[in-house]
Amino acid sequence: MFFFSFFMTIIKNLLKEFRSFFDFDLNNSGFTNVFFVKTLQITMLLGYGGVIISSVLIMPSHIVFNFFIFSFLLTMLYLYVRSFENFLISKIAFLIIDISFLNTLFLLNGGINGPTLLVFVICFTLFVFFTEHLFQKFVIGVFLANLFLFMIIQYKFAYLIHDYLNYKMHFADNILIIFVSIVAEIPLVLFIQRYFVKSKLKMEEADRLKSAFLANMSHEIRTPMNAILGFSEMLRDKTISDTDKSHYLDVIRENGKILLQLINNIMQLSKIDAEIINLKESPIHLKTFLSKVLESFRNDLQRKSHIKTSIEVPINDHELVVLNDELMLFQIVSNLVANAIKYTDYGLIQLGYFLTEDRDSLIIFVSDTGIGIPESAKEFIFDRFRQADEDYSRDFSGSGLGLSICKELTLLLRGEIWVESKEKVGSTFYLSLPLHFASTDQIKIKKHQMN
Ligand code: ADP
Repeated sequence: MFFFSFFMTIIKNLLKEFRSFFDFDLNNSGFTNVFFVKTLQITMLLGYGGVIISSVLIMPSHIVFNFFIFSFLLTMLYLYVRSFENFLISKIAFLIIDISFLNTLFLLNGGINGPTLLVFVICFTLFVFFTEHLFQKFVIGVFLANLFLFMIIQYKFAYLIHDYLNYKMHFADNILIIFVSIVAEIPLVLFIQRYFVKSKLKMEEADRLKSAFLANMSHEIRTPMNAILGFSEMLRDKTISDTDKSHYLDVIRENGKILLQLINNIMQLSKIDAEIINLKESPIHLKTFLSKVLESFRNDLQRKSHIKTSIEVPINDHELVVLNDELMLFQIVSNLVANAIKYTDYGLIQLGYFLTEDRDSLIIFVSDTGIGIPESAKEFIFDRFRQADEDYSRDFSGSGLGLSICKELTLLLRGEIWVESKEKVGSTFYLSLPLHFASTDQIKIKKHQMN
């Protein structure tokens, strides 16, 4: 019993190691590279399978050896790809190893009578899938030239080819290769199918969001624009009272601000996409920073006089000074506060921070007692152009860009952002960031600047 469980633990651990060896996350590397790595993994496994099967079938030792060398070289290549992710060099190396293996197989395993030509066609197809442009043309050229070489060897130098010892071995070998090829192709073909179905769905989703965005944008731009044009027209009227005039000017300024925010958001997103945002670390006195964020919303808060605000900081770390990109952090937290104000009519908006127990991360939070977010919307409100309520006749203006900007900026700061919320009770947004304490000198300079 003891041996059995001991044995099972070893097997389980081995399986775990085996799986993690093949676990290679390449989500953002593009189809050709992901397909290349999958092909490499499967070919490597098949190579070792070839070693075992040709040994069991008591094939001549040079065939077993050929399989072994092939698999060993592929394992080295796989380790190289895993460590360096240099795909071009790896693909060239794979081509050289593959072509050498096929040629040796042709010579050792019955030439035109053996399974090499079938394996050759399969390899060619796979290479076409994971190469592009000039490299792909080169690959096609190499395979065609090699086919020509096979023909010359078979016709002119047939004495170089090792033929099968008997008909049974010939038959078994060919059937075996067909079987193994089908088994090997199943995961690759399924991968291609899933990959394309997935990217088609993604494209359709992006298309839908783009149309929703355009419809939304024209609504978002037209509403403040109409207000600005309408109220400035009304200002021409010489008979209006001073109070009305000042009210009209307020409306014009407010709507101008909404338009500006929209343009800022769109520009921010294009900067994120173009990867032209550089991080600039500086010491931040967190409590002052949070007060500064709140202060920038003074006008909005005056208008929503039923909302109270407070800043919550931990007693032990109330003078915390951290290193981070202040401007970026300001954009994130102020977006969260803007939302908290927008989606809350009564109650309390709290801003604060605390440290995780291991003092590894800093968590900044913005909580409100507003309308809350339905459970089903929590997973997509951080996506671009997505809103909890996607009905155009909704009560709140907005483009659905604020939170996606927060999320993308947070990722740039190597942090995480998430929300806890209950409908009609309120929401709390959390921003977790790696904690870098400022040095004593930096703290002194910061305090000096603040005074
Ligand atoms: P929007 O411009 O629509 O506010 P955001 O990306 O900032 O876009 O937010 C996306 C959606 O998340 C909002 O449309 C809203 O439905 C929901 N949301 C964000 N913050 C809050 C909040 N504090 N309370 C309730 N809902 C919120």
